[in-house]
Amino acid sequence: MNVSVAIENFRKELPQNVTLIAVSKTKPISLIQEAYETGQRDFGENKVQELVEKHEALPNDIRWHMIGHLQRNKVKYIAPFVHLIHGVDSLRLLKEINKQGAKINRCIPILLQIHISQEDTKFGFDSNELKEAIIECEVLEWINPCGLMGMATFTSDSDQVRREFKGLKRLFDEYQSNFGENPTLSMGMSGDYQIALDQGSTMIRIGSSLFGSR
Ligand SMILES: *Cc1c(COP(=O)(O)O)cnc(C)c1O
Repeated sequence: MNVSVAIENFRKELPQNVTLIAVSKTKPISLIQEAYETGQRDFGENKVQELVEKHEALPNDIRWHMIGHLQRNKVKYIAPFVHLIHGVDSLRLLKEINKQGAKINRCIPILLQIHISQEDTKFGFDSNELKEAIIECEVLEWINPCGLMGMATFTSDSDQVRREFKGLKRLFDEYQSNFGENPTLSMGMSGDYQIALDQGSTMIRIGSSLFGSR
């Protein structure tokens, strides 16, 4: 199946309030261009250098999402243009994004990442740390907290995935009033987005189901 057909199929299936992010990491410019021509505007990358290069090579009205783990010393490269940083997982990273935003007079939209999976390799705050981060956001002038993001355990046990997403949704509801006009809950990938939608996701990050395996 080609990428434009895959995107059309997702569009038909998704509720109106859900944003589809086409995760284009490792994929060539030509394939992203093809997706762009179907009207797709939200794209996700997980490496800063690749994100910067693709941003320079592709049309200006693409909304670039940084979905991967972000190192503090690289924030400055994406601060001027990034549409949303999904993986904010420490107070130090929050402060660095705020600092870079202040330098260029841009309030930077972010999601706080929550650790919901049972894998230690995944990043994110627990619920106590989240509370601290929300309080910190209130004093950081150049941070625009838009919502939460999480990744479920990579498992075929759909009950476990559902429980993890449900927990994330509960936290999202608790703090929703801190997330501005369009609170965003970024959860769901190719393998688990249907469960995520059932649990109230507003943004899904789809790579392999659109562009093929990596
Ligand atoms: C790669 C990636 C995705 C997309 O994964 P697929 O399984 O290919 O849909 C989503 N979110 C994050 C954070 C990723 O790194």
